[in-house]
Amino acid sequence: MKTHKISRTQFVREGACLAAGAFFSDVFAPQTACAQENRPQCTSQPSGCPGTATAGKSGLTLRPYELLCLVCSLGENQGCPQNAKLAAALEKIRRQPDIPLTLCCNAGDVYSYQDPGTEADTAEGRDYNRKRDFDILLKLDAAPGATQPARIWLAMLLKRISTVAGLCAYSGVTSEAWKGCAKAASGCYERAQKQGLNLLIPPRDEAEMTREKEASIAALKSAKEVTIRPHILVCAVCQYGGGTRPPFKPDNLPELLQMILTERPDVPVKFVRGADWMMCAPCPSRVAATNACVCGAIKSGGLYNELKDLNVLQRLGLNFGSTMKARDLCLLIFEKIPTVTGVCALDIDGLAAQSIWRDGCGGKPHPFYDKGRKALLEKLGGKA
Ligand code: SF4
Ligand code: SF4
Repeated sequence: MKTHKISRTQFVREGACLAAGAFFSDVFAPQTACAQENRPQCTSQPSGCPGTATAGKSGLTLRPYELLCLVCSLGENQGCPQNAKLAAALEKIRRQPDIPLTLCCNAGDVYSYQDPGTEADTAEGRDYNRKRDFDILLKLDAAPGATQPARIWLAMLLKRISTVAGLCAYSGVTSEAWKGCAKAASGCYERAQKQGLNLLIPPRDEAEMTREKEASIAALKSAKEVTIRPHILVCAVCQYGGGTRPPFKPDNLPELLQMILTERPDVPVKFVRGADWMMCAPCPSRVAATNACVCGAIKSGGLYNELKDLNVLQRLGLNFGSTMKARDLCLLIFEKIPTVTGVCALDIDGLAAQSIWRDGCGGKPHPFYDKGRKALLEKLGGKA
């Protein structure tokens, strides 16, 4: 059988890794103002460095250890990495938290296509640098050259790596080459890790969410047609069974159900993609600029929620763009989805604790759905 080994040059040229091009642009392109002056410019505010290039569509490439050092530097120096490259990376991530971030390291062997070279190695030496990157990727259960939104990498890192002990320095020093990083025992990483993701990526602004709640509820009340992503109509049943009633701060589902049960049972409901504004507008997990959802333990809800939507559509025999009268749609859901297991509660059996597919609703019983379905069936005059 013919083997197909590709070089690093090919890897970049063929676009095998989305952000690999960004590696070269980061290394060889004119440096940002921060980097040129080799001084940190960021502030503890997300507005960051004046003069720093804004994050483009291309993405960002870091070594695995640099992601760890980014967190460590915030524990050392609140809000501002001293290292210019890390300051620029943080600036980009704060401006665009879901920027594609590639973690490349000198892996060799079949992963040599993504080896970045030793330019970014720290002074401890080549073997230590390779081992440190490998140990971090092992903890993250990730392949060299893997790309994900920066927000997900950081959330995963903070969940999976609570200490740098054993990664950046070892319990016994076997030789000068394996002394490790002088900051490993400083507690800087551990201090920042305890503060969590908000230290790196600020959450949605409360006042903005309040404004969005008011505006979206006003739009819902007068809507000729309600737009909603499919699986959250099933979530609305669960909420109802659990006793949630309007007003509800984080989403507009209880308000929608109340509207269907009282004034407008025949309002047309249309299935649309993503964290659509009409229902999701006030949610802390909504990214308004991209209509994306970043819920979940490691912020990967944007992935598994897409699958939940498709599961619901498949069960109902509908598609995105399908429109039905609200009451008829609810009754169809009650008929075709007698239980949420395997539909919007995904099968997560055997997945790692911080898998990007791990859905908080998966792998447990759902008595609230059963209760909500029964109560709403009665109220809407359907048959059990
Ligand atoms: S201990 Fe050193 S190598 Fe490890 S994260 Fe901190 S600065 Fe980076
Ligand atoms: S943004 Fe995500 S978590 Fe929030 S209501 Fe919409 S789908 Fe649910």
